[in-house]
Amino acid sequence: MTKKLLFINPFVEDFTAYNLWAVPLGLFRIMEFFESQGEEVIYLDLLDGPRVAEEGMIPPVCRSWGRHSYWKREIEKPRELSFVPRSYFRFGASDEKARELLAAVGRPDKVYITTGMTYWYRCAQRVIGFVRELFGDVEIDVGGISATLIPALFEREGVTVHSGRAQIPTEITGTGCRSLPGLMFFPANLVEGCPNRCPYCSSAIFYPKVSRRSTGTQADNLEKWHAETGRADVAFYDDALLLRNGRYLREFLDRLGPGKYRFHTPNGLHLHEVDDRLCEYFTCYDFPQLRFGFETAFARYDDKTSLEQLIQTAGRLTAHGYPRDRIGVYLLCGLPHQSVAEVEKSIDVVAELGLRPYLSEFSPVPGTSLYFDHITESKLDFVNEPLYQNNTLSSFRSPVFTPDVMKRLRDRLNKIYETEGSYSS
Ligand code: SF4
Repeated sequence: MTKKLLFINPFVEDFTAYNLWAVPLGLFRIMEFFESQGEEVIYLDLLDGPRVAEEGMIPPVCRSWGRHSYWKREIEKPRELSFVPRSYFRFGASDEKARELLAAVGRPDKVYITTGMTYWYRCAQRVIGFVRELFGDVEIDVGGISATLIPALFEREGVTVHSGRAQIPTEITGTGCRSLPGLMFFPANLVEGCPNRCPYCSSAIFYPKVSRRSTGTQADNLEKWHAETGRADVAFYDDALLLRNGRYLREFLDRLGPGKYRFHTPNGLHLHEVDDRLCEYFTCYDFPQLRFGFETAFARYDDKTSLEQLIQTAGRLTAHGYPRDRIGVYLLCGLPHQSVAEVEKSIDVVAELGLRPYLSEFSPVPGTSLYFDHITESKLDFVNEPLYQNNTLSSFRSPVFTPDVMKRLRDRLNKIYETEGSYSS
């Protein structure tokens, strides 16, 4: 007998949240699998989309290439965050709306709930509560980021918790997009995992081994999605998209041909993988912006790249005609033992090269080695309260990167952006 399966993406509460090509890709793949098995699959997005709208909410603002903000409403901060002088929001459905949308679905045979950032755990817990309230003892599986990193907080809710890749049936090779024609962009993922082991990153927790996914299946799915929707933006979800000098990316692009799609790389690309052949692809195909992971220019935690590599790669790309001001560089700030001068110097070095620096604030990720380093210096007890793991709170945790220092760094960045003009923020 056909089973009715309900898949839920919970709402979020935070100081800020923005959809920069974010979708619950793991959940989509599981949905696709069960759809292919003939089950009835229902997707309830409590975070994004017009269904969550209610009177009095702030509507989303759409930016280029499928990026947008969420429907939101200002709410009272949780007691633990009352000291933060910033507004706090519910992004997505209110409690009443969430109950109403769930009730409209009717009792399913099983519920799958995905989880995002660890500091959003309370929202996922609340959704579990609503499901219980409406559907009694229905079976609930929880997976995703928080479920993997802080499983105990969900296990105590009496649900089945799945960790990392284990939640996704191995038969799944597609993307899940066939069942979601409303998507503004196509999420692609050619390589799972990353061969590097940066001490602040959880990639290895989710993917202990690096493996490739079928470029052929994904190219076919992309073409089908494009034929159905007429849309042309593709966002890569890879941690190591350029693995083996972009071999898998080139394979994927060769199947599609230039001139049809726009490709976006929100995750930091690896500088050392860029050779002349790959540069040709970046200029021949439409990559409006490239963003490279760099960390800092001098005192580094990782050994995945160097300042020399940044200079070399930028030179190589521009020699092939890729505009310098469209090369973005992610810098990390607020790391344990990092100095402010180090971050300032890194911003200046990147700007002097004519590239665009992006500052990412460090957030401690359970299970990574810097998480434990940060415990000794942090002013907030983020171990016992995951709300404090939010990167927005990095200046309240760090004894060095205080709110004043962060303001100074942001002002420095803004001055650079004003001087250089903005291709796309
Ligand atoms: S290179 Fe990027 S994805 Fe890979 S481990 Fe480091 S931070 Fe994580």
